[in-house]
Amino acid sequence: MTTIYLKPHKEESLKRFHPWVFSGAISRVVLDASHKASAPEEGEMVVVRSSANEVLGVGHWQVGSIAVRILAFGVERLEKTFWRERIAAAYRVRESIGLIRPDNNTFRLIHGEGDFLPGLIVDVYADTAVVQAHSVGMHVCRKEIAEAIIAEVEQVKAVYYKSDDTLPFKAPIEGEKTGWLTTSDQRLTTNDEYWSEENGLSFRIDWLRGQKTGFFIDQRENRALVERYAKGKDVLNMFCYTGGFSLYALRGEARTVDSVDVSQKAIDLVNINVAHNFPDDPRHHAYAADAFDFLSEQREKGSTYDLIILDPPAFAKHRDAVKNALRGYQRINAKAIEMIRPGGILFTFSCSQAVDKEAFRLAVFSAAAQVGRKVRILHQLHQPQDHPINIYHPEGEYLKGLVLYVE
Ligand code: SAH
Repeated sequence: MTTIYLKPHKEESLKRFHPWVFSGAISRVVLDASHKASAPEEGEMVVVRSSANEVLGVGHWQVGSIAVRILAFGVERLEKTFWRERIAAAYRVRESIGLIRPDNNTFRLIHGEGDFLPGLIVDVYADTAVVQAHSVGMHVCRKEIAEAIIAEVEQVKAVYYKSDDTLPFKAPIEGEKTGWLTTSDQRLTTNDEYWSEENGLSFRIDWLRGQKTGFFIDQRENRALVERYAKGKDVLNMFCYTGGFSLYALRGEARTVDSVDVSQKAIDLVNINVAHNFPDDPRHHAYAADAFDFLSEQREKGSTYDLIILDPPAFAKHRDAVKNALRGYQRINAKAIEMIRPGGILFTFSCSQAVDKEAFRLAVFSAAAQVGRKVRILHQLHQPQDHPINIYHPEGEYLKGLVLYVE
């Protein structure tokens, strides 16, 4: 195997289990005999050693500022049982905290670094797992990963691979970036009528055409909180996608629920989900519209709401976009706060990893001050238990939310 030697003292973060080796920490690369090129291949498994030749771990080589993502510390190679053991360990966590139940067969099985598998995401929807690789190394290992999931997670019968949007843009990639890794089941292949349960609500999951792996599992706990507060309220669910928050609000006895998303495909799914869980319910309306336009139009009409949910897509996908993102958060939050009735509630979120809790809170503070309403924080929300944060890798924290009481 190729060996990566670090500069003196650069082993310290690895010894504290931080799983990334930055390219600047590397002193030299000793290629194994099989190489024709002058550098390791993207996705290849490499050994990392300190300047004193101590074995630090093995991981996947990447081109970019993160050069290696460590899979196992203190060893020179992965055991044959590596994938099964890691997946079984992740499953045990979800099981032990009561997440896996007949009324809840939707959960994130692997959350990258948070489950000690950097670059890998696996979401489970009933009997199907959707795998997403964020590194070429995970792409190379996709078949072993699929086999390990089938072997370790009883409910999963099929594994779909969906990495067309997540693999590094310019990387030389062999093999398909999407498609089934395990099944020839026609019902699964067409993906029609595929339902998954979250806390007793049924959602149609479209991983073939949907966003991310098909659903935003990360809002499960926050949706349950909306259910608690929805009774008798007029609710607006902005950036609703397939209607997660809307269904919980309806079950929580909201008076009316308006769902808004710019994607017509998402709105079609919201309507399917509402009709399935709450047949012929006159309380719900869905609109395919841009969020900013919708809020401006409603404001002109003098509409107001008791409870608004704002769950926009990541406004900052990179560090250099943070400033604009913060302006975006301020603008949309100001528009929402203006439309909340006195004594109403705003659930507001940011899923931009590059925007930290404090910066997001400051953007919402600026929005409140701009509108001149009295605002208090009732809850500070975050990502759920099946999106764990490795304590040695704080970069894994991305979802934050505030629940505000607006006077
Ligand atoms: N709250 C959702 C997840 C939201 S993801 C859930 O619980 O499942 C963000 C959503 O915002 C996506 O569905 C995307 O289509 C939508 N979106 C992106 N830009 C938008 C815009 N300008 N106006 C309205 N919706 C938008």
